[in-house]
This record gives sequence, C-alpha cells and structure tokens, in this order.
Amino acid sequence: MFVGHYSVAFACRTERNRIPLWVLFVAVQFLEYVWATLVLLGIEKLRVIKGFTAGSMLDSYFHPYSHSLITAVIWSVIAALIYKAVCSRPPFDSAQGRLSDDNKSAPLIIGLAVFSHWILDLIAHPRDLAIYDNRWKVGFGLWRYRDPEFALEVALLAGGIGLYLARNAMPAIRKGAVIAFGIALVIVQIGDTYVPRTPLSDKATAMGVWIFYTLFVVVAFAIEKIARRRQTNAP
Ligand SMILES: [Zn+2]
Repeated sequence: MFVGHYSVAFACRTERNRIPLWVLFVAVQFLEYVWATLVLLGIEKLRVIKGFTAGSMLDSYFHPYSHSLITAVIWSVIAALIYKAVCSRPPFDSAQGRLSDDNKSAPLIIGLAVFSHWILDLIAHPRDLAIYDNRWKVGFGLWRYRDPEFALEVALLAGGIGLYLARNAMPAIRKGAVIAFGIALVIVQIGDTYVPRTPLSDKATAMGVWIFYTLFVVVAFAIEKIARRRQTNAP
C-alpha cells in the first residue's frame, strides 16, 4: 500500500478535531518512517527484487520492530502520547491546536491513524507482516494483482479526499489545491505501479521513503497554510 495510506489522513481531518493535515500525513506513514530509519541503520532487512510481486518490488523479509502487529500497536500509543504531550504544552494550548473539549479525542485519532497503516498494509502485503517478533506472518497479498491493488489505492484516496472536502470549510482555492494534490498522488502511484524501473538498493529505497513522504508532508502543510492566510486576509 502506498498513496492509499493518505486516504486515512484526509478522512480523519475535521473542523471539530482540527488536527493539521500534515500531522496526519506523518501519522499514517509513521510505521514507514520507523521502517525506513531501521533499514538505513541495518536493523531491519529489505530486498528489492524486480517482479517480486506484480505491484511491488519490496521483499521486506525482516521488519519486526516497525511492522509487527504488536509493535504497530505500541507505536500507535507512543504517537498518540507524543501528540497529547505536544498539544498540552504552553505555546500550543493557547493556540488553535489546543486540546479543548472539541478536540480532546485528537490523540486517539492520531493513534488510530498510525495503526491504520498496519491494517492497509495487511491487505496489500504478501505474508510478511508478523504478529509478534518475526513470527506468525500474515498478509492478504493484493500486491500480486496489480490492477485491483492500484484501483483500491485510488478508490481509497478519492474517498478520503471526498470526506476531507465535505467535512472541512475552505475557500475554493484550497479545494482546488487539494484536488490537484490528489491527482499528483495518483500520478506518483501510476509511476510506482506501472512504470518499469531498475530496483534501487535497500538503503536508497529507504532514503526515498524519507524524501518523498516528507515532501508530501510539506505539501499537506502548505495547502492548509496558504488557504488559512487567504481566509484571514479576507474582508
Ligand atoms: Zn508499511
């Protein structure tokens, strides 16, 4: 699963919880950031094999700390606690992100967004997701079927963006920017799924995760920032 993860970020953001979209973009890929970091450190192991599955070249044969069910739950709780701690601190509790009655469920939403990564990976991955440590591996393997997997990614993303547009008040320019961002993500997914390329090394793949996913976070930040500035400038 790739851009489909971002559907959860778009779907979770409401006027009520006021969690910034960029924070949710980090949350839904939190396990992937942990994974890429551990691959770079040589702790988790990855092989990049052309044609490993129809939809992915990643043979992630040892990733018990980022992608086992137990550690996914632990990372979700940690992320929720970090969000709660940061939002309760002085510069934040008087700002828009404070945990008022309206958005006190925000840390729980962050935790669920982090955990959603494992659930969506479960659908796409071959049997490489351990329940505990490196044992009892599960995965429904939708990556073996390239077109249905691609269709699911795009359908999820479209659904998430639809909810985001429906549940958040915003000027037309932001609506346009969100839709353009969605189209850009679909193009990235087309490139990932259908454009043949030579496999990168494990470390280069992990570096790519850090660079591209962070770029998406920056775009998510910019989209909500520009629109807010225009709103406050409005008469
Ligand atoms: Zn993953």
